[in-house]
Amino acid sequence: MTNRHAVQRIDNFVGGQFVPPASTAWLPDTDPATGEHIADVPRSDARDVNDAVSAAQRACVGPWGGWTVAERADLLDRIATAVQARAEDLVLLEARDTGKPLHTARAVDIARTVANFRFFAGAVRHYSSDAHSMPGALNYTLRRPLGVVALITPWNLPAYLASWKIAPALAMGNAVICKPSELTPLTVNALAEIAHEVGVPDGVFNVVHGLGHEVGQALCEHPGVKAISFTGGTATGALVAAAAAPTFKKVSLELGGKNPTIVFADCDFDATVQGVLRASFSNQGQVCLCGERLLVERSLAPRLTEALVRGARALRIGDPLDPDTRFGAQVSHDHRAKIEGYVALARQEGGTVECGGKRPILVAPHDQGAFYEPTIISGLASTARAATEEIFGPVVTIHPFDTDAQAVTMANEVEYGLSASVWTSNLLRAHRVAEQLDVGTVWVNTWLTRDLRVPFGGMKRSGLGREGGRYSLEFFSEAKNVCIALA
Ligand code: NAD
Repeated sequence: MTNRHAVQRIDNFVGGQFVPPASTAWLPDTDPATGEHIADVPRSDARDVNDAVSAAQRACVGPWGGWTVAERADLLDRIATAVQARAEDLVLLEARDTGKPLHTARAVDIARTVANFRFFAGAVRHYSSDAHSMPGALNYTLRRPLGVVALITPWNLPAYLASWKIAPALAMGNAVICKPSELTPLTVNALAEIAHEVGVPDGVFNVVHGLGHEVGQALCEHPGVKAISFTGGTATGALVAAAAAPTFKKVSLELGGKNPTIVFADCDFDATVQGVLRASFSNQGQVCLCGERLLVERSLAPRLTEALVRGARALRIGDPLDPDTRFGAQVSHDHRAKIEGYVALARQEGGTVECGGKRPILVAPHDQGAFYEPTIISGLASTARAATEEIFGPVVTIHPFDTDAQAVTMANEVEYGLSASVWTSNLLRAHRVAEQLDVGTVWVNTWLTRDLRVPFGGMKRSGLGREGGRYSLEFFSEAKNVCIALA
């Protein structure tokens, strides 16, 4: 394949400098929409992690340790302003690195990256810690930074999820080491450039690129790292927790999901169809919160299936850099192969493919891309593997139910517990069902509406801990209680 663009070489960012990895080895980064080799990414190892931890430790005992809350909040605002100023540049990087449409990168990824920095600038300005008064004594809680924290992130929302961790970690005065996914390193590299430009002190913001079992694991094991905030798959989360345990790190785990979308016959039909299409196929189905498991009240199932099939077929699939595209490529050819494996499994398990279930026919260079059509499958048992295991792609299985109780049982019968959406015009039913679902987030008549103050995280195998607002500020700080006798 000939390159339409020069291959970019990126470096690690350690102690305020862009530096090559100790190994001098590089990993190829590919545009999944064309198969083009677009960048070379450092294949770092424990030596680079050691250097980054040392730089971050020096930063923590340097002037950064004396910055006031107001100064740190202003710094986050400056980063937000600089990201906004370079937004179109970052939108293009994100679209090329992930295969997502420019439209999504602009409206979701980079918009939210700016919002994350702005939000935590405000949140930390208004943050207050607790005081507990008791007979004869007063307690108050001091919050101090943890020190060096590692932020390990996945490929589906690269800048969005990294900034969701970087912003609160810096707000509370920590030094960070980011480990973006090796598949999508470009926007976190751009965030390092921005941090440097706006005056983040050397060593406060570091990026070490590379493979999970090399760089990620070295970060989890390093005694100088005090906390790991990890977003990624459930199996990886277990490895992270195990590697971090011997050094008693704080760990926040945001993991996989198999989220139910529950549609009752009394829903507002047209709004529900639009909402379910978004929940199913946004970002090519590669959002941890996507609803891969569609539970529908039996009387509505044929009509809803027909409307969703029509909507899925109407999604404009193709070149992510075309402003009219609404459905891009999967993140990699390997990931598409995983999705194809699950659709083959669904067929073996007795499912009927209502739409999709194949690669679209596209012209060069996108005929080389990792595209896959939005896919809806009916007729599977709700306990089938394809209906219960996370696919993380544009594949939705439909399962009819007869009663509210059955809907709740089916929603809860998976090992994950990240989120759910409920579609009904009966408010009492919405409250009742929401209360019974074993998930960290329930949306009613909406999906992915995000107030950044609310607790975000999963139950069961979807994770450990909560992020967002004060939950993030608390995770990235150490509480110390002071008890003063009043007599
Ligand atoms: P992944 O678990 O393969 O990788 C995530 C990150 O962990 C990458 O940076 C990777 O290099 C690193 N990593 C891999 N092995 C490691 C190890 N042994 N030690 C330390 N780090 C290691 O996940 P992915 O394929 O990049 O992302 C998809 C997954 O992320 C899906 O399961 C999805 O549901 C989940 N996700 C969850 C949320 C959430 O908020 N709960 C958000 C987005 C994605």
